[in-house]
Amino acid sequence: MSTGWVFHELYLWHDTGTYAGVFQAGLTIEPGEHAENPATKRRFRNLLEVSGLLGQLTAIKPEPLSEADIALFHTGEHIERIKTLSAERGGDAGELTPFGQGSFEIALLAAGGTYAAIDAVLKGKVRNAYALVRPPGHHAERDKGRGFCIFGNVAVAIMKARKTHKLGRVATVDWDVHHGNGTQQAFYADSTTLTISIHQDRLFPVDSGMVEENGEGAGEGYNLNIPMPPGSGVGAYIAAFERVVVPALKRFKPELIVVPSGFDAGGTDPLGRMMIHSGGYRELTRMLMEVADDICGGRLVLSHEGGYSATNVPYCGLAVMEQLAGSRTAVEDPWLKIMERWGWQDLQPHQEGAIDKAALALSRIK
Ligand SMILES: [Zn+2]
Repeated sequence: MSTGWVFHELYLWHDTGTYAGVFQAGLTIEPGEHAENPATKRRFRNLLEVSGLLGQLTAIKPEPLSEADIALFHTGEHIERIKTLSAERGGDAGELTPFGQGSFEIALLAAGGTYAAIDAVLKGKVRNAYALVRPPGHHAERDKGRGFCIFGNVAVAIMKARKTHKLGRVATVDWDVHHGNGTQQAFYADSTTLTISIHQDRLFPVDSGMVEENGEGAGEGYNLNIPMPPGSGVGAYIAAFERVVVPALKRFKPELIVVPSGFDAGGTDPLGRMMIHSGGYRELTRMLMEVADDICGGRLVLSHEGGYSATNVPYCGLAVMEQLAGSRTAVEDPWLKIMERWGWQDLQPHQEGAIDKAALALSRIK
C-alpha cells in the first residue's frame, strides 16, 4: 500500500505580511519576512519533486472543511471574526497570528487537507499519509488563534473523522518543538483521544506544556507532556520515544496515530533550541510506523506544523517521506554528517530526568 500526499498551492498564498521574524517590523529593526512564511514548505515540496519521490506518492486532493466542521472545536465568534477580517484586509487571529486577505478560505482548506489525509488512511486508500498544510494548527485554541495557527487542523480533522467514520481511539504525537496546546485543549477531558506532546520546556506557549498537565474529568490520564531541556539531541528524543511515547501508544491501543509534525526541533531552526537532524526524524518516523504496524494496521497520518530553517526543513521532510514510503532517493543531506558529530547528541542525565518524570504518568493510561 502506498503513502498519501496532500498539498495545495493556496497553502503557500496564506500571507503573514511584512515582519521581522515574529515581531512587527518598524523603526527598531529592518522589515523582512514573518518567521512563518511559505519558503520552508515550498522547498520541502520541491525537494520531494526533484528527488523523484513525489512521483511515488499518492496525491490526495484537499477540500475545504465547512464552518460547521470547524465549529466542532472552535467557537462561532472566533470563526466569524476570522471570516470578517479575511474578507477585508486581514488582521491577527489572536496572539502572534497575522494573516491577510483570503486566509479564512485557506485555513478551511488546511483543516480539510488534514482531514483528507485521515479519510484516505481510514478508507484504506493509502497506508499512511503526510499533509503539507498551511497555516499550521496545533496552537489554535477554541476561541482564538495563537502562534501562527488559525484553526486546529488536527483537532478539527479528528473530530470530523469521529463523525464520518466509525473511529474509536485516536492518539496524537506532537513532535513540533513547541507545545501542542491547542490539540491538548481540544481533547483534555476526552479519554478516547490520547494527546502526547514532546517539546522544548516552556518555549511556546511559556505557560503550558508542563509534565503535570495530564487531562481532566473523563480525560484524566489521557494527556502526556514531555517537556525537554533546550539542547536535547537525537539520543534524548529516541529515549523519550522508547520510554514514554511508544509504551503510551501500546497501552492505549489507538486505531489511528496522528502526528502534528513540526521540524523546528531541527538543529538549525531559528525558533527552537534542539538538535534533531534528518536521521533523527527518520528514526522517530520508523519507531512510529513500527508501533502503528503493531497496534493499528500501520494507520499513521502526519500534518505539517512548524519548522523555520529553509535549508534544513526540506531534508528532514524528505527523510520522513522516504521512511513513510519505504523508498530511498539519491539525495544526501549535507547537514546530517555535521549534526551527527555535534557534541551532546547522546542522551544526557538531566534529559533522562525529564523523560523519567513524564514516564510516571504512563500507568494512568488504560
Ligand atoms: Zn513549532
